[in-house]
Amino acid sequence: MSSLESAQRYFNLAADQMGLSANMRKLLLTPEREVKVQVAIERDNGEVATFIGYRVQHDNHRGAFKGGLRYHHEVDADEVQALATLMTWKTAVVDIPFGGAKGGIQVNPKELSAGELERLTRKFIDQIHEILGPDKDIPAPDMGTDAQIMAWIYRQYSKYHGDCPGVVTGKPLELHGSVGREEATGRGVSIIAAETMRRLNRDIKGATVALQGFGNVGSFAAKFLYDAGAKVLGISDAFGGVWNKDGLDIPGLLAYANKNRGVQGFPGGDSVTNHELMTSKVDILIPAALGGVLTKEIAELAQAKVIVEAANGPTTPDADEVFERREILVVPDILANAGGVTVSYFEWVQNCQHFQWELDRVRNELHKIMVASFDKVWTTAEQKKIPMRTAAYIVGIGRVGRATQLSGIS
Ligand code: NAD
Repeated sequence: MSSLESAQRYFNLAADQMGLSANMRKLLLTPEREVKVQVAIERDNGEVATFIGYRVQHDNHRGAFKGGLRYHHEVDADEVQALATLMTWKTAVVDIPFGGAKGGIQVNPKELSAGELERLTRKFIDQIHEILGPDKDIPAPDMGTDAQIMAWIYRQYSKYHGDCPGVVTGKPLELHGSVGREEATGRGVSIIAAETMRRLNRDIKGATVALQGFGNVGSFAAKFLYDAGAKVLGISDAFGGVWNKDGLDIPGLLAYANKNRGVQGFPGGDSVTNHELMTSKVDILIPAALGGVLTKEIAELAQAKVIVEAANGPTTPDADEVFERREILVVPDILANAGGVTVSYFEWVQNCQHFQWELDRVRNELHKIMVASFDKVWTTAEQKKIPMRTAAYIVGIGRVGRATQLSGIS
């Protein structure tokens, strides 16, 4: 099943509960605009290289389109559309004044030099700058893109439209970025994990955790969970995994992974495979790497009590059904990883006001939004006796649907 089919299946489960008509479903699922452009650059050796760039603007009834830009060799129109719809429901779940979009270029960024990457990014903005803007569509980093690429986007867009930092978020601090943006998704994940434990009458202190992925999201989630007193027993990345039954020393592991290629070989633990980690007996399992990793087979073997989806789309619909049958609680991506877009919103607010917030303010506001959003989804799930994912979609789709109706169709 493609990521677009998965996203539509989750949408339809919630739409069934809401009794949405076929016409309304079509209206809410159809993207407002899909753009596909040629991005041709001269490589360092003088040859011409041609890439395909995408931007899908799914919905803007609640505010400007908002969503990341992915540089990856598997980017295609279907995946970008699926991720754009997820952004629409995500911004609605956390109730920030944006719609949903996503973009990308089908490219392996590791195969390009820094100069080629810069030319590629600037050329892409040449092609799509007219549909971007701080009140139109605001990109951000995603897999394969970073603060440097956001800086090039900001400067290239400003060549056409005058200085405009609010056109993109996730920028470097020296170029109107926000403190607390880099840590935001992982911090949000740790807040959601703690709230989940609290609702289950458990304390995050002493709770056991296994985490897949030790990149931006996974490493900050591990750090904040460790700070809160959770025992992170296992962590894996693309090269291997480590396990310590008494809890890993996360500050030590962070320092080790920075110096070495990932977590493999860390002296404070034994090695563990991805499969062992995903099926280990822990309170909380956190997938924070790729989509589609929690398959039906893994779901049948999983021993975690709670799954907190830090990655986008880590659970296949088949696996979701197994988790429901086995009463394993799944906290969905559109809630669990919304901390990143929430602090992107704070960055945009600061850019619009030409005023910088302090870290404490960013963290406090993030905490308020994540807890309020968690409560809304939890209460909806409890009242309707439905899984948290369906509840989150109902909250998101409901807000977008009402904004659409209030806006009027013509
Ligand atoms: P990243 O590139 O910084 O890190 C990815 C991590 O996953 C790395 O540690 C990598 O080694 C690991 N990994 C890759 N393949 C693996 C495999 N086969 N097995 C185990 N580990 C593997 O990416 P990130 O920004 O941390 O994003 C991770 C996930 O979170 C993605 O699904 C992304 O879409 C989602 N997400 C990110 C943000 C954000 O703000 N960065 C926001 C929302 C959602």
